[in-house]
Amino acid sequence: MTKIVKFREGRKSSSKHLKALDKYPEKAQKVWAFFIFWSKVESSVVESFKDVKSESNQRVLSSGGIAMSTPYQGACLCGSIKYEVSKLEPRMGHCHCSMCRKFHGAAFATLGEALAENFHWVEGESLLKTYLAPNGTQRKFCENCGSSLIFEAAGDDGRLVEFALGTLDSDIELKPDAHIFCESGANWCELSDDLPKLKAGRDSEAFTK
Ligand SMILES: [Zn+2]
Ligand SMILES: [Zn+2]
Repeated sequence: MTKIVKFREGRKSSSKHLKALDKYPEKAQKVWAFFIFWSKVESSVVESFKDVKSESNQRVLSSGGIAMSTPYQGACLCGSIKYEVSKLEPRMGHCHCSMCRKFHGAAFATLGEALAENFHWVEGESLLKTYLAPNGTQRKFCENCGSSLIFEAAGDDGRLVEFALGTLDSDIELKPDAHIFCESGANWCELSDDLPKLKAGRDSEAFTK
């Protein structure tokens, strides 16, 4: 009702109409019913905008992982394999090891991480092929288009899924946090960002050329 009163006060210029309504109570009732209906519509629209705003804040405010109600979408090049990630873990490295370079056909691979319960294949999981390397690492790719999709360390316990970030179709708020295995990196790749550059894994010392 507050809204309606405010609405009425804000429309002083329409006092002529209100006086006219007093003479015709039935008509006035209908008009007030419309005002009440409209004020409900207006407040529900305002509330839904508030919801959208708080969702987008949640992405920014969360730490130690990004929570959101709409999952991130990803797919291979041909689109036969699709996946969703409901929450990204903060670790996101550019790996320069020779195996990642070859698997991705690029200077380095950027891998995102998600807990297994937050990563879901939407379709085409049966099209995944696995390459098992002599060092026990496994790499999964689309058998149809060859897109690199998944990396699994040797002895992986399955708790965490490492996936090729380049296959995401959604924008994300997080940014990569380190260059790893820089010692085996391609010598033609110049790194100009300020991220930590490590010789090997995340526990290794800094890489200096
Ligand atoms: Zn594919
Ligand atoms: Zn690697």
